[in-house]
Amino acid sequence: MTTESRRLDGNAAAGRLADVFVFDATVVRTRCGTCGTSAPLGHYHVYADGPGMVVRCPTCEKMIMRLAQTPGHTWLDMGGAATLDIGE
Ligand SMILES: [Zn+2]
Repeated sequence: MTTESRRLDGNAAAGRLADVFVFDATVVRTRCGTCGTSAPLGHYHVYADGPGMVVRCPTCEKMIMRLAQTPGHTWLDMGGAATLDIGE
């Protein structure tokens, strides 16, 4: 079986992701992709005075995630987070 024959489009993940993205984000243990700090999201630094909101690591101040809204869209960039532990 080849990789290509096993591949599905992104819609195949929709059901599982709907299960995962229902949580209280402030208690989600988040690991910084830069320095490895692991703490509940509520312990991270938030800057909400710009056009969007930026969450930064409390140890190294690198960007963990960004959230912005434009008409009809909500943009979430979690590129700075290595992992999120959302519990059970
Ligand atoms: Zn960090």
